[in-house]
Amino acid sequence: MCINHFQSQYTVNSLEFYFRGRVALFALLNGLNIEKEDEVALQAFTCVANPEAVKASGAVPVYVDIEPDGVNMDYRDLEQKITSKTRAIILQHTFGIPAKTDTLLSIAAKKNIPVIEDCCHTLTSQYQKKKVGTFGVGCYYSFEWGKPLVAGIGGALTVHDALLEKKVKEQYAAYKTPRIGRDIRIFIQYFAHKLLYRPRLFWPVRSLFHMLGKLGAAESNYHPIIAEGIASDFSLRMSLFSRNRLKKKYPLLQTITEHSKSVCSRYASEINSPAVSHISIPEKSVPVYCRYPLLAQNKKELLKQAKKQNIEIAEWYATPIHPLKGEELTLVNYRDGICPNAEKRCGQIITLPTHTKVRTADIDRTVEFLNGFSI
Ligand SMILES: *Cc1c(COP(=O)(O)O)cnc(C)c1O
Repeated sequence: MCINHFQSQYTVNSLEFYFRGRVALFALLNGLNIEKEDEVALQAFTCVANPEAVKASGAVPVYVDIEPDGVNMDYRDLEQKITSKTRAIILQHTFGIPAKTDTLLSIAAKKNIPVIEDCCHTLTSQYQKKKVGTFGVGCYYSFEWGKPLVAGIGGALTVHDALLEKKVKEQYAAYKTPRIGRDIRIFIQYFAHKLLYRPRLFWPVRSLFHMLGKLGAAESNYHPIIAEGIASDFSLRMSLFSRNRLKKKYPLLQTITEHSKSVCSRYASEINSPAVSHISIPEKSVPVYCRYPLLAQNKKELLKQAKKQNIEIAEWYATPIHPLKGEELTLVNYRDGICPNAEKRCGQIITLPTHTKVRTADIDRTVEFLNGFSI
């Protein structure tokens, strides 16, 4: 089942559509026959979605630190963390910045370990003239709030290995469509967000959604799967509502990509405050940012001022396995101090919006705010 609406300049031959990005990852891990006691290497400085899927597969998440000056996996630490039990490596292209893919792939190839690409932050970034998502045995996408293509909630995967493809397709037959109540909730949430949200209303809308999430009235990022065992969500297909939204929005991918590129070229050339620094990208890569990252000298104060002045600046990832903190981190096998670069980055990272609701006036205000911010 190759989906035709996924054909364009940016071809994505999606195999199947899942309830969330993490459900697509789970399907890939199952397709690779990952089992109890196996290890899956993934970077810290990620969201809880990834270790949730790894734990759901029965495997143990093993965290690899990020580069000392970047946001993606550090190949030196990957070499340290691979063991005889490592059965897969998840390669994340954080914020749309391609990971140092060739180096990481060659380490994996030497040990004969399959690589899965996490393309949740980008459908269109390129590395050495090839689109990310085409390097590993498979890759997965997410279509929830904050991702380049928002369709409510949902995920998809693509596969570049015949055997894996066969398995994934076979397994998909057993996946169920979510109940209609779920669809209605996603529908309401999608339109409420679409209607309410714009960069100037980022902070109040964020508070509202956090509150609704806590009350269980909105689909939130954190599912207490770890407490419940394998949550039933891991056997679900994409909701019908999200599927339809995705079909309608997919043709906009090129517009979204170009918009992000033009917004980010202004951020890159005009933000010159000593209070923040830009992140360098690997050679021969063309990032398409879902959010534009900066490292702040004084993140806490900067966010406080941004909130006061209603400037959209996000804080994620605020913890190595966002949004888990303190004791919660141990639920996904993260222990304080195992990935020092990731922990440091959490204290510095801020991100700016790149989506199509960002207008020239929003960029002006953001640049002015950051350049006027003193440490
Ligand atoms: C959003 C995201 C996912 C998947 O999220 P879902 O909520 O499961 O769709 C996976 N990895 C990263 C890095 C993400 O940001």
